Amino acid sequence: MTNQTDINKAVRQHIEMEKFFSGGFTVKSKTDSLKQPEKQNSSKQNELEAVATQVAQCRKCELGSLRTNPVPGEGNPDARLVFIGEGPGADEDAQGRPFVGRAGQLLDKMIKAMGLQRSDVYICNIIKCRPPGNRDPKPEEIFQCLPYLQRQLEIIQPEIIVALGAHAARTLLETTKPIGQLRGQFLDYYTSLGKPPIKLMATFHPAYLLRNYSDDNRRKVWEDLQKVLAELGLKSPQGSQK
Ligand code: URA
Repeated sequence: MTNQTDINKAVRQHIEMEKFFSGGFTVKSKTDSLKQPEKQNSSKQNELEAVATQVAQCRKCELGSLRTNPVPGEGNPDARLVFIGEGPGADEDAQGRPFVGRAGQLLDKMIKAMGLQRSDVYICNIIKCRPPGNRDPKPEEIFQCLPYLQRQLEIIQPEIIVALGAHAARTLLETTKPIGQLRGQFLDYYTSLGKPPIKLMATFHPAYLLRNYSDDNRRKVWEDLQKVLAELGLKSPQGSQK
C-alpha cells in the first residue's frame, strides 16, 4: 500500500516536472542571438579539445584509473552561458558526455524552457571523472581537477556561469555557505587571468530537484534561470508563467 502510494506520488511529481519545464508555451530558439564568429569558434574548439586530451591522460588522482570514460564537457566553444555540475554519474561515465542521465534530461528541459538549445551553451562539471558508487568527490580530487575547468572557462569566457548544486557553487565561490543562501543572486567567479569576474548564478542541482520535488523548489530554479536570461538580454519565452 505504502509502495503504491510512493509510486503514485513519484509518477505525479514526474508528470508535473515534465509539464513545468517543457509544456505550455512555445519555445522560440535564441540560437541566432548566441551565435559566434566561426573563426574564433574553431580556435576555441581546438583549445577545448586540447584540454579534453589532457583530461583523458590525467592520472593525478585515482579517479583517472577507476572511470570508464573521462567526461570533460561539451557544447558551444564560444557560449555566453556555461552550466557546471558536480561530476559525472554512471550514465555520463558510460557515454563520456555530461548530463545525459535523468538529471541531464531535466537540465535539457530547463535549457529548453529558457528558449535555448543544448548546443547554444557549454555543459561541464567540477570533476571530470566519475567517483565510484557516485560518492562525493574528495577535496584532493577537486583540487587536482579544478585547473581543467578553470582553463575551459578561460577559453570560453562566458558571460554567465550557472553553478548547479551546492558542490559546484561552493567550489567555484570558495565558500561553505549552504546552496539556499547562495542561489538566486549574481555572485562573482574570478578566473586566474586577472580579468573582470564572471557572473555566477547558483541554483539547485537537477538531481536535487528530482529528489526533492516541490512547487517552491521548481519556482526557485525557474526564477534563477529567468534572472540569467534577463542578464543575457534574452526574453523569457512567451507565456511561461511558472
Ligand atoms: N550530475 C552532475 O553533476 N553532472 C553530470 O554530468 C551528471 C549528473
